[in-house]
Amino acid sequence: MIDAFPTRLSFAEAQAILAGVAAGRRLEVIRQPLSRAHGAVLAADLVAALPLPGFNNSAMDGFALRASEINAAGEAGLRLAGEQFAGSSRELVLGLGECTRITTGAPMPAGADAVLIKEEAREIDGRVMATTSVAAGAHLRRAGEDVAVGERVLRAGDVLTPARLSLAAALGRDGLEVFRRPTVAVFTTGDELRPPGQPLAPGEIHDSNRVLLQTLLMAEGIEPVAWPVLPDDPARMATALRDAAFSFDLVITCGGVSAGEKDHLPALLREQGEVYFWKVRMKPGMPVLFGRLGEALLLGLPGNPVSVLATFLTLGRGLLDGLQGRRELRQPLRAELLTPITKGHARLEFMRGNLSCSETGQLQVRPNPAVASHRLRAAADANALIQLPEGAADYAVGDRVDVLPFGGLSGV
Ligand code: AMP
Ligand code: MG
Repeated sequence: MIDAFPTRLSFAEAQAILAGVAAGRRLEVIRQPLSRAHGAVLAADLVAALPLPGFNNSAMDGFALRASEINAAGEAGLRLAGEQFAGSSRELVLGLGECTRITTGAPMPAGADAVLIKEEAREIDGRVMATTSVAAGAHLRRAGEDVAVGERVLRAGDVLTPARLSLAAALGRDGLEVFRRPTVAVFTTGDELRPPGQPLAPGEIHDSNRVLLQTLLMAEGIEPVAWPVLPDDPARMATALRDAAFSFDLVITCGGVSAGEKDHLPALLREQGEVYFWKVRMKPGMPVLFGRLGEALLLGLPGNPVSVLATFLTLGRGLLDGLQGRRELRQPLRAELLTPITKGHARLEFMRGNLSCSETGQLQVRPNPAVASHRLRAAADANALIQLPEGAADYAVGDRVDVLPFGGLSGV
């Protein structure tokens, strides 16, 4: 039989299809208060309407003065003429031979060009002497030196990190235009699955993928809705998945996408929706399925826990990124192998490994030898995926390989 959809495609081809579909279904723009926008993707450039700092101010607690005057004054010092604290709106003007007490963040009095820090000052009878010379401009934060008015400080497509949200707040914004997060329904499938906490009958296993998928999504800032486990029954699967497809942007399933008798999802999607691809030349995760059911996208991950991890982190995150218009892609890091790898097969491979940094600053990765896709413990011990390109090859100690850290919102 000739499949009418792309199959056995390369990882890069799968990524390209996901990106193309996602670009055509970019989610709408909403305004989000800053405190709810962490991890969201900015939908419009942020242009500074204010300078940062907003006015010349002191970087330290001490005395605002003219550097040349204090340096020339010696033991006579300068007359302490007043105080300027943070938040003060007084417009102090510094007279000749004078200084003012000042705190961090307080506006500089007109005429002052430096701050003598408290620790380097002596104050006696209303006069202030320096114990060291003061450079003009010392401990002074100049208006606009961080951000000038009209400068574009964030671009559409940027992921909103805590520091970026803080920058928006400093510029006076209480909310930002972001792409809506996708709503995601999660299904695990399989007659053998029991929820953790329940006793197992012979042949049953605990559903470990459900919490894996839920928390992988939560790490991306998405609150998924997880359905009860779906039995390996095509009619019941179809009903539940069609229901979800009415109300969610994306349905993520795991299990039931291989070629076994109980793997009903590819046929279901072919008959009731549209398959964009099925099977990718990757290991683990080869039977991954992607398509449309009703109005929703459906990403069908294979059932083995390590396949779920690898396919979600690589293809699943890419899809979420695309739907939200994320510009900064999650580029792999390059790290030196600490133990050799013999890759005896042709597919692109995602191995589990531990990424670390040597004392000299070299990124290093130690592959975990337990490569089989049911070896959940090895995934739990790891902190990164090692991406080995297509083709059988021997990798020696010291060879550089691509590594994708598991980390959620990072990658910016
Ligand atoms: P499948 O892709 O449905 O053929 O499943 C492949 C393997 O993953 C089988 O050993 C399943 O028992 C196992 N598996 C499937 N779903 C889960 C799950 N939710 N939690 C743990 N293991 C699973
Ligand atoms: Mg199954």
